Amino acid sequence: MNELARRLSARIASHGALRVDAFIDACLADPEFGYYRTRAPLGASGDFTTAPEISQAFGEMLGLWLGERWQAAGSPPSVRLVELGPGRGVLMADALRALGKVLPGFVAAARLHLVEISRPLRAQQAEQLAGHAPSFHDTFDEVPDDGPVFVVANEFFDALPVRQFVRRGAVWHERVVSSPADGFAFADGPRVDDPPLSREQIDDAPDGTVVEVCEPALAIARQIGARLARTGGAAIIVDYGTARSGWGDTLQAVRAHNKVPVFEAPGECDLTTHVDFPRLVNAARTGGADAFGPVTQADFLRRVGIHARFAVLARGASPERARTLEAASRRLLHPDEMGTLFKAVAFQAPTLPPPPGFEG
Ligand code: SAH
Repeated sequence: MNELARRLSARIASHGALRVDAFIDACLADPEFGYYRTRAPLGASGDFTTAPEISQAFGEMLGLWLGERWQAAGSPPSVRLVELGPGRGVLMADALRALGKVLPGFVAAARLHLVEISRPLRAQQAEQLAGHAPSFHDTFDEVPDDGPVFVVANEFFDALPVRQFVRRGAVWHERVVSSPADGFAFADGPRVDDPPLSREQIDDAPDGTVVEVCEPALAIARQIGARLARTGGAAIIVDYGTARSGWGDTLQAVRAHNKVPVFEAPGECDLTTHVDFPRLVNAARTGGADAFGPVTQADFLRRVGIHARFAVLARGASPERARTLEAASRRLLHPDEMGTLFKAVAFQAPTLPPPPGFEG
């Protein structure tokens, strides 16, 4: 057992089993030992690779989408540009470079705000984006509330802790983590009379199934929705998850690019769950914004022109570089890769015309 596991085990021994969200929160965000507090998780030497790390075209497309929305909003002269969970800062660097060429007015109008809990990643972001003087925040609601806001998030919402509930006949129980002598195990916790699940989930989940809800994700989507409705602006969110709210345990741990058991090494593995897009969209609407999607990542990127961008990048490329671009395009778009599991949703002020990428 590592030190975090020993502490969690002791906490369970003295205070009782932990709710699943509390366990995930400790693994990811414990101030001393949490995964995101202590590690730089991205890249070949890290634990996982994300779309902006695969190709510059990804961040460029999202940046240009935000720039187009800024124009659609009447090119306001002063806005906040916000990224949630910016990783190594690559997406934002690619976005700002593309915008600098195509829409320098947006770059001039935008003050950059990065919402990031990881100190090691903040250092990488500060270096990557030094020319844009980013401000750092622990939460979205710390971003100054004084005008339009343009928000991007890739693989942020999957990193937030979920609660899990399990159905036993007509009764729902909170799923909890207990600590038998040899480590950790899931168990049925207290009965919950009114679980915060959707009507369909409560009505349709078969006996014995686990159903998840990510309360922090819904709270943040509601905050963003309220902010967009009040001050104007738009948000583009990409992540992996479901186009329909369902049930099932999607909690997974990843280490060094491999799936590992969830309890293997608390604080040393990334823990994620699939994003429930319909509920995220509903939360943004509850906040007062218009919301669009989900559409698949492949559909979104194609509609906003990623093939044309890849064609430009391939112009005059060496055969080796052309093969790299081809492989990157396949990873982002192919249904066997990230193309359909990953999805995009957009939130925006109700005054804006419909956004690109979400037609049909
Ligand atoms: N968007 C980046 C990184 C995705 S990994 C990319 O696509 O490459 C998840 C990111 O969210 C990391 O930057 C992580 O440190 C950050 N993060 C995780 N939980 C967070 C939280 N509760 N608040 C703010 N940032 C968080």
